Amino acid sequence: MTTIDTDPDTGLDPLEFSVTRNLAAKNAAERDAILASPGFGQNFTDHMVDICWSVRGGWHRPRVSPYGPISLDPAAAVLHYGQEIFEGIKAYRHADGSVHTFRPDQNGRRLQRSARRLALPELPVPYFLQSLRELIAVDGAWVPSGDDQSLYLRPFMFAKEAFLGVRPAHKVAYYLIASPAGAYFKGGVKPVSIWLSEDYSRAGKGGTGAAKTGGNYAASLLPQSEAYENECDQVVFLDQDRNVEELGGMNVVFVYKDGTIVTPQSDSILEGITRDSLLQLARDRGHHVEGRNVSLDEWRQGVASGDIVEVFACGTAAVVTPIGTLKGRDFIDEQPTGTLALELRQELTDIQYGRAEDKHGWLYRLDA
Ligand SMILES: *Cc1c(COP(=O)(O)O)cnc(C)c1O
Repeated sequence: MTTIDTDPDTGLDPLEFSVTRNLAAKNAAERDAILASPGFGQNFTDHMVDICWSVRGGWHRPRVSPYGPISLDPAAAVLHYGQEIFEGIKAYRHADGSVHTFRPDQNGRRLQRSARRLALPELPVPYFLQSLRELIAVDGAWVPSGDDQSLYLRPFMFAKEAFLGVRPAHKVAYYLIASPAGAYFKGGVKPVSIWLSEDYSRAGKGGTGAAKTGGNYAASLLPQSEAYENECDQVVFLDQDRNVEELGGMNVVFVYKDGTIVTPQSDSILEGITRDSLLQLARDRGHHVEGRNVSLDEWRQGVASGDIVEVFACGTAAVVTPIGTLKGRDFIDEQPTGTLALELRQELTDIQYGRAEDKHGWLYRLDA
């Protein structure tokens, strides 16, 4: 067990995790073979963390156990009504071997906001942080050390109560699993092509767009296949007033000729931590940053007139991807390419991998 002191902000004592070692854990050679070419989301570490919650008992039975299938009652509410939320965050290995993650307090707080919207219990942030440390304590060797490689951490929470009535579940599980991730772009960052979804939206006013919940992703799969049919990599969604929202799992940022940076802001957009961090780095460089509505017309006209000089998408998995093309039913707009997106990407990843000074105190050490 890792020793952590009572949390100064919440007064919560750390949880006491039971640890059951995986007797069939991969050996160093097997692990190294996977880490040599990890891909994304295909291989998992030897252990997982879970914490139970019930109305009566609150958060209880924190465990580290061998990674493996979860047994669920077929009537578990998540399987019927989708009461589920998740997070995505990475662990990075620095040159001195130490393991760090990036702004995990932000992920912990976002998990709480998502929980509120999905009527799930809020996991205290200190427990969230402890779960990350507990997993790294047993599976730290799974954090790869190659260029742009990381260990992708996937915290999630779901309604496990066996009950077909419609109400918030009285029994819930929080889990944490981890998957080694290779460089997202093999052979350098390439601009992506984006399909404009006109028939489908990802979120509505008052809906769950701002929560990280599986249902939003389920709703994006059909429009995403429409994007593939139209030879595009990703799909971008509009709101009911034809303002730009975001891609299926990444935020959008526009760079203007005068250096102003604009990103769509609304209650139905997921607030990305990558976006927030990139915008802070841009402010540090003297850029003026605005969060406001951006209509599709403003985007298309801005590109046509030369007012918009760069458009990019951002999120934890890919960090930053320039947008090369916007394709709609009756148009194809080539997007201007600049250098800011890739400069900010470099600056951010330099901080994450410990190659540049962490001026904002964003790093959080996981292995000590
Ligand atoms: C997770 C996510 C993002 C990106 O958030 P990050 O914190 O930057 O990883 C953007 N949009 C959606 C819909 C997401 O689920």
